[in-house]
Amino acid sequence: MRGTGRSPVVLGQGLSLYIHVPFCDAKCTYCAFASAPVRPGDEKLYLESLKREITARAENSPAIATLYIGGGTPSVLSPVSWDALIGIVERGFSFSGGAEVTVEANPGSLTREHVELWRGWRVTRVSVGVQSFDDRRLKFLGRAHDAAQARAALALCMDAEFSVSLDMMFGLPEETLRDWMTDLKTALSFGTGHISVYQLTIEEGTPFARQNPALPEGYAQYRYAQWRLARAGLEQYEVASFARHGQECRHNLNYWDDGEYIGLGPSACGYVNGVRRTNAPRLGDYAAMTLRGLPIISEERLEGERAARQAAVLALRTKYGITWKNFAKRYGAPVASAIRRDLERFPADIVTNGAEASSLTPKGFRLGNAVWAEIIS
Ligand code: SF4
Repeated sequence: MRGTGRSPVVLGQGLSLYIHVPFCDAKCTYCAFASAPVRPGDEKLYLESLKREITARAENSPAIATLYIGGGTPSVLSPVSWDALIGIVERGFSFSGGAEVTVEANPGSLTREHVELWRGWRVTRVSVGVQSFDDRRLKFLGRAHDAAQARAALALCMDAEFSVSLDMMFGLPEETLRDWMTDLKTALSFGTGHISVYQLTIEEGTPFARQNPALPEGYAQYRYAQWRLARAGLEQYEVASFARHGQECRHNLNYWDDGEYIGLGPSACGYVNGVRRTNAPRLGDYAAMTLRGLPIISEERLEGERAARQAAVLALRTKYGITWKNFAKRYGAPVASAIRRDLERFPADIVTNGAEASSLTPKGFRLGNAVWAEIIS
């Protein structure tokens, strides 16, 4: 399917909704996401505020086609709070038949009660933040779980017959290729239909940035993952995402297809009618703003060539790439031609330029940053 057409996102007029849960057990050393440990009263404040935001935004919205509840760590919310969250979402929205509902979970906080609640609701996918099956690596990353908990969490989710995804991380200091091969082998042993691999990077303002460790380049690890996961039947459908056929994340495919989505909760982003809106990141500010109206702190209209180039970068993240006919129809023929010319400057082992579509090759995925820079600059 590489480069032969649009991604199989069929949301129709359905809504793509993201809900951010801003809590974590502890702050991982490399994390720049908006999250913090739960303090007494926080869960209640969050749920009351989210309810107000949903009341303000859900009216007349179409049925949900994809819902992604991420964070932070959604499994840090207690089962009682989860029960309340489900009630709030159900009162605010309707769901289309076959809706994809994903929840992120971390092994340290996931319980059987969570799994049973989700099983009894509409959850179809669980994305487990494993990162590694090596206790030393987990400790270095500041993760709040150990390898035994990671194994137990995956077993719980697999037994409940969710579509399970697991996140793995490579590129830690002093990591050898053999370390990564061992970790990936263990990840594959669970037989999940989806695995995401991320390279550790240094984000400004994190404890990790203050330590400023030397990181390996990571090219060999990523290349190995591309080969090994494909061999296990997980096809790469996006820079960091590998899935068995039919287990791709539709919510994320809509995002990479430059589709619209609504974001709810602290720090959540939405994108509707060409405008990107971002919510207040801190729970206290978010809660106070929902008392007065919408908790939006910034709005940015994307239009013209800038919108087209950003959409091109998103599309090239997937194996489907850019379908030129659709792209020209949506963003205009002149900018489509200009981007096509930019892509034709790359050799054929990095970008495949067909009559209908352009997409990155596996090597192109490894060198993606160079391609994005060429398009955005
Ligand atoms: S669990 Fe995820 S969101 Fe929470 S601190 Fe760690 S990396 Fe950040």
